[in-house]
Amino acid sequence: QAKEEGINRVAFSSDKLRSSTMNQVQISEALYQANLDSEFHVVYQPQIELETNQIIGVEALIRWNHPQMGMISPGLFIGIAEKNGFIIQLGKWILEKACWEVQMLSDSIGRPLKLAVNVSFIQIRQEGFVEDVLQILKRIGFAPDRLEIELTERSLFENRPEDLAKINALRAKGIRIAIDDFGTGYSSFGILAKVQVDKIKVPRDFIENVDSNPNSQRIVTTIASMADRFQLTCLAEGIERLEESNFLHQLVCQEVQGYYYAKPAVIDQVEKWLSMPREKLIKVVSADKMDI
Ligand code: C2E
Ligand code: MG
Ligand code: MG
Ligand code: MG
Repeated sequence: QAKEEGINRVAFSSDKLRSSTMNQVQISEALYQANLDSEFHVVYQPQIELETNQIIGVEALIRWNHPQMGMISPGLFIGIAEKNGFIIQLGKWILEKACWEVQMLSDSIGRPLKLAVNVSFIQIRQEGFVEDVLQILKRIGFAPDRLEIELTERSLFENRPEDLAKINALRAKGIRIAIDDFGTGYSSFGILAKVQVDKIKVPRDFIENVDSNPNSQRIVTTIASMADRFQLTCLAEGIERLEESNFLHQLVCQEVQGYYYAKPAVIDQVEKWLSMPREKLIKVVSADKMDI
């Protein structure tokens, strides 16, 4: 039940309309019949360091353009791909594609960019997960310390020793771990007690109207100072307005992501943004009304 709500909560409104006529079984079958290379692509949302106003990395986000059904958002299909196991194949494809594209971009601009990739707990539980990740990095020549794996609290809340051991194994190789949507899951502190992480991501739920909503202010201030205590990087997600960003500036929150700065975009667009002079960048990026 909780899973279903999660799916609907992040789905675009067009998906909501469609999901009534197009049931989960149809999506599940369409996933298995999908041609990965022609139907899927990865978009990248810049992550900005507040101190320098510079793009220091990108988060990879999957996009699915079905030949008949059109764009289907990850909020709708990731949960289904987790249920039917397709996420195993898809997750590997995303990681490989994203590492490849970001490596090419880094080479071309002569600056190593960081890459964050969302990973499902189903992927972690797959035998050989750690080896698969390391192999992909090695094949592409992608430095492990430039890869960040984003996990949700849900993927860790069972505290299965095998899962935690795999996360620690990746971390021992230099890969960074971020907790996505921090504070929305079942056991935020429980996770910090059990597994060593590098970053927490504050979800849009708490950032929206943080400049005017006292409760959001209390929550965000608490999370940011907690991150500081644990010596974790704090990244605020889903910033859409300057006022929200300004509120975060006064907290110990080092990184931001959101439509105010840049929407997720194809790698060529990110390259264009990165080739602009730093002073100009943020203004231009936020003026670009890209919607991909
Ligand atoms: P997430 O990892 O928390 O990603 C953030 C979501 O918020 C993305 O939606 C992003 O496009 C959106 N977003 C970014 N800035 C803003 C903003 O300023 N305002 C608003 N309203 N939204 C913003 P998206 O791409 O639809 O992805 C939704 C969720 O689907 C992701 O949440 C993640 O949990 C999952 N997902 C996406 N791509 C992947 C993937 O490659 N693998 C896995 N396992 N999950 C993925
Ligand atoms: Mg994420
Ligand atoms: Mg998030
Ligand atoms: Mg999420």
